[in-house]
Amino acid sequence: MGAQPLVDTYQRIHDNLRISVTDRCNIRCFYCMPEREVQFIERREILTYEEMARFARIAARLGVRKIRVTGGEPLVRRDLPKFIGMLAAIGGIEDLALTTNAVLLKEMARPLRDAGLRRINVHLDTLDRSRFLELTRRDDLPRVLEGIETALAAGFDSVKLNAVAVKGVTEPDIVPIARYCRERGMEARFIEFMPLDAQAIWDRTRVLLADDILGELAAAFGPLEPIPDPDPRAPASEYRYLDGGGTVGFIASVSRPFCLNCNRIRLTADGKLRYCLFAIEETDVKGLLRAGAPDADIEATIRKTVAGKWLGHEINSAKFVPPPRPMYAIGG
Ligand code: SAM
Ligand code: SF4
Repeated sequence: MGAQPLVDTYQRIHDNLRISVTDRCNIRCFYCMPEREVQFIERREILTYEEMARFARIAARLGVRKIRVTGGEPLVRRDLPKFIGMLAAIGGIEDLALTTNAVLLKEMARPLRDAGLRRINVHLDTLDRSRFLELTRRDDLPRVLEGIETALAAGFDSVKLNAVAVKGVTEPDIVPIARYCRERGMEARFIEFMPLDAQAIWDRTRVLLADDILGELAAAFGPLEPIPDPDPRAPASEYRYLDGGGTVGFIASVSRPFCLNCNRIRLTADGKLRYCLFAIEETDVKGLLRAGAPDADIEATIRKTVAGKWLGHEINSAKFVPPPRPMYAIGG
């Protein structure tokens, strides 16, 4: 505590850490993973919970206040509540959240809540079983829906729903997903398709843009108004339904990049520190952790990585080069 915050050369303060606990997943979303022969990281290369928690403690001393656990699918890693408990015990951490596909959430929601998890973002793109099978190559929609209901009953501070928006694919799902969330008091957040898929199918014409989704929602539910952002560093642009149906968000990385406000760093499951989802370079911290490096060396590595952060991704320029790792191996 009391250390200088993690600031980059553009004066952005970094207080938000995402930790990917695994690159494995129990479903195969077409915009993230290949259908078969997925190359997973070898188990011995994956950080232990103790190693990840040590990194998080050091990051907290440098001003990190929010941690989100992600993957791959974090619930496929054994004993996740134990890790959540380790993170919840770190002084200075004010927000502890999880991103999950919810296939295993029915069993895990209460143990996670009891361990200190505060918020959950569930990822679900469709409410139609055959479309779910088509999009994820797995027939798990009933389990996901049960998982969501269990999470809603478990007393989290918030349960939000993330849906990826892919042009020519997910249009039929927008209004049903929005209605499902309105009926449950959940916020739906539509995520523009990003160039992070393992099969290199992304191109600009396949991005279903936030403005187009807004148009569909307005046609179905009446007008929406933008909500002035209480936290300008949060990535979602939020809107309110004027009929009292709650709020909806857009993570519009392509049409409304939010790099200028970025406050995130990421630790991959195999111990690489990344200053951006789209970064090409990454910094090894596993070597330091496993060599018994003192905290001061790890602190210095975090500071140096943040100091070297670029201004932002260049998705909208001809210069853009996709990162060498797909989404499931980075931690979305
Ligand atoms: N398995 C968990 C899940 O699906 O929520 C956590 C990891 S997943 C990589 C995190 C988020 O990334 C999910 O909300 C998912 O929809 C999103 N995602 C994956 N591939 C994407 C892509 N190519 N473009 C935009 N979002 C993507
Ligand atoms: Fe798995 Fe999440 Fe990727 Fe879907 S988006 S394949 S659930 S890691």
